[in-house]
Amino acid sequence: MAKPDYYETLGVARGADEKELKSAFRKLAMKYHPDKNPDSSDAEHKFKEINEAYETLKDPNKRAAYDRFGHAAFEQGGPGGMGGGFGGGGGGGFSDIFEDIFGEMMGGRGGRRSSGGRERGADLRYNMEITLEEAYTGKTAQIRVPTSITCDVCSGSGAKPGTQPSTCATCGGAGRVRAAQGFFSVERTCPTCHGRGQTITDPCTKCAGQGRVTEERSLSVNIPSGIEDGTRIRLSGEGEAGMRGGPSGDLYIFLSVRPHTVFQREGADLYCSVPISMTSAALGGKFDITTMDGARSRVTVPEGTQPGKELRLRGKGMPVLRSAQFGDLYVRITIETPQKLSKRQRELLMEFQELSSKETSPESTGFFSKMKGFFDTMSD
Ligand SMILES: [Zn+2]
Ligand SMILES: [Zn+2]
Repeated sequence: MAKPDYYETLGVARGADEKELKSAFRKLAMKYHPDKNPDSSDAEHKFKEINEAYETLKDPNKRAAYDRFGHAAFEQGGPGGMGGGFGGGGGGGFSDIFEDIFGEMMGGRGGRRSSGGRERGADLRYNMEITLEEAYTGKTAQIRVPTSITCDVCSGSGAKPGTQPSTCATCGGAGRVRAAQGFFSVERTCPTCHGRGQTITDPCTKCAGQGRVTEERSLSVNIPSGIEDGTRIRLSGEGEAGMRGGPSGDLYIFLSVRPHTVFQREGADLYCSVPISMTSAALGGKFDITTMDGARSRVTVPEGTQPGKELRLRGKGMPVLRSAQFGDLYVRITIETPQKLSKRQRELLMEFQELSSKETSPESTGFFSKMKGFFDTMSD
């Protein structure tokens, strides 16, 4: 099932500003909150969708990635220890704002952040299409990835060089505060440091205290020869930078191989169809084809070749990934029946037909005699 658009989920325009996003999120989150809709899995699902949409759009880096790549920017799953959570990667689970809004009524949720507010960066997906020729030879591709990277000025701390983040005076570094409310004492996210436990008094000017900046990076990706369509290449640590010194996510390159005009690939083997004339098929002959290695190979057509015959050229298929072996190339023969005959050609074919016997076309002779037997039985 396709994921709904984040903007549609929140019911805002694509150009909506932070304030509009926040107010749309608040309204919807209140409406679909599980506490208000017990036993409704629909509401719960909707609530998660709203949360995920807001989680992504409130972060300018993630929003930029989403605007550019859609959901594919955060696609996750499969092996390799990718971050969990409701998409958007990162520390996972519910967002800061969720805790800010619902912290009280839910009696506070366990702190999901590690100390200092460190968060692992999101995994990123990059779709790359290559030609069959490139899959054959392998290549080094240069790609440009828009991603947030650790700020080089403050080394990711978010604090101006020469200064240090200080322990939050409000919560004493715990990231959460307890407050008396009526008869209850409730715990909620610290409003001063938003759960980080630290405040930056002198923010780094380059990243405005975020510890990371968005940049388009150029990466060199090695595509090995023999790579198959649908392969995923993982570049460890090349995803989005973590928050405030957290580890970076991974970059996944999803590779697709463009269909070739001549060759079809099945594993390491290649197939191609070659039409030959009726006379070449009958008399036998030779033709040359250009193979993937750029060389020309001679194909010998035996006398009396039937349509659909596959002629194998050993080792002329695709290289086998990470080995010195190659698949084979199968040339499928199709036979072209002559058209627009001249008078002379027609005469010759008529003469040929008169001279034909059971031996020249055993298959059709056999077939029609079987049919004859069939009709005989029918008329009995
Ligand atoms: Zn900085
Ligand atoms: Zn605090």
